[in-house]
Amino acid sequence: MEADSDANPSSGGYYSAANDGRTVEECQDMIQRSLRTPMVKFLREHLEKSGCSIRDNFIKAIHCDQKISGGYFRGEGIMVCSNHMTLQDEVNQVVIHELIHAYDDCRAANLDWANCAHHACSEIRAGHLSGDCHYKRELLRGSLKIRGHEQECVRRRAMKSVTANPYCSESAAKDAMEAVWDVCYNDTKPFDRAP
Ligand SMILES: [Zn+2]
Repeated sequence: MEADSDANPSSGGYYSAANDGRTVEECQDMIQRSLRTPMVKFLREHLEKSGCSIRDNFIKAIHCDQKISGGYFRGEGIMVCSNHMTLQDEVNQVVIHELIHAYDDCRAANLDWANCAHHACSEIRAGHLSGDCHYKRELLRGSLKIRGHEQECVRRRAMKSVTANPYCSESAAKDAMEAVWDVCYNDTKPFDRAP
């Protein structure tokens, strides 16, 4: 079980505060559109190759009371929080991020989401490979720093997700992040390199 807190800049208050995002139905259509993008197609193919094909209703739009953008839930699938989505690009990004968690869950039979290092590793990969931290998105969040901002952003966002894990205290999350950073940041599978 894994929930992601801040993929969406609009939930951080940089957009109109009156923005309630999308309806579940609109978001469902946006998810369908995201399935036709090359990155999502690629990840689905690799999930299939790894023995984890994805049924059509694997990715669902829901209304979220918590301030999260979406999540991956083992055995259930991927949820996208419609009320925290505005743009197609945001939906694509959440879908890609969560598909990387699904891929990690699929390829590592012993992956344990209660293990802070396992969770940290998947967050680092999902943050890095989904482009969550590309400079344009960071600019929208108002936290662009010129040098090393991508890694710093991946680290910050991964920390946020791992500390939200009830099994991981702040210090356990920090230690786990340090321990796995190099290996997991450089593990770009199923991509040859970070897209
Ligand atoms: Zn995540």
